[in-house]
Amino acid sequence: MERKIQSLTVFCAARSGNNSEYESLAYDLGNWLAKNQIQLVYGGGSTGLMGALARGCFENGGYVIGIIPEALKARELEFKKAQELIVVSTMHERKAQMNLRGEAFLTLPGGFGTLEEVFEVITWKQLGFHNKPIYFLNHKDYFTPLFEFIQHMKSAQFISDEDVSRIQSFNDLQNWKKHWEN
Ligand code: AMP
Repeated sequence: MERKIQSLTVFCAARSGNNSEYESLAYDLGNWLAKNQIQLVYGGGSTGLMGALARGCFENGGYVIGIIPEALKARELEFKKAQELIVVSTMHERKAQMNLRGEAFLTLPGGFGTLEEVFEVITWKQLGFHNKPIYFLNHKDYFTPLFEFIQHMKSAQFISDEDVSRIQSFNDLQNWKKHWEN
């Protein structure tokens, strides 16, 4: 069994995607965090998967830490019920707080913002600035084309096997849960 963590930083979409399963996944993960007393650290919005995740955690008795830049409060609708809503000045501060406060990182389906956030923690791990686990939830094979591209980078020898080994993927929430509970 993986060592128990007390906080998890989650990167995910500010939009809902084309299938309600994505929001259900985010809500169920939030619920699981609540049930396992793991604090949720995320971008602080209430739209799309981010909102579903925060509601899933909050509505089931969990602890939500949202970190949102002042300039994005109107656009991403800050999750006012969060036990801690940290309003920062810049996007860099947001990521710094998100990276500092979580003991591990999990990526759910998302767009450019999600990828930007997770690739920062991947590259910082590669450079030795942290050694926290980095996970992907490859629900509905969402990230499979990205993993193919990562293999392509490896074939071209721009990254190594060791670099690839720094990220770990789960096919669905069931496998993620088993990883922690078995
Ligand atoms: P998206 O995956 O594009 O829906 O974005 C998910 C979240 O990432 C949103 O809350 C965005 O505001 C956030 N985001 C996008 N780019 C950055 C960035 N450079 N630094 C911090 N957060 C970002």
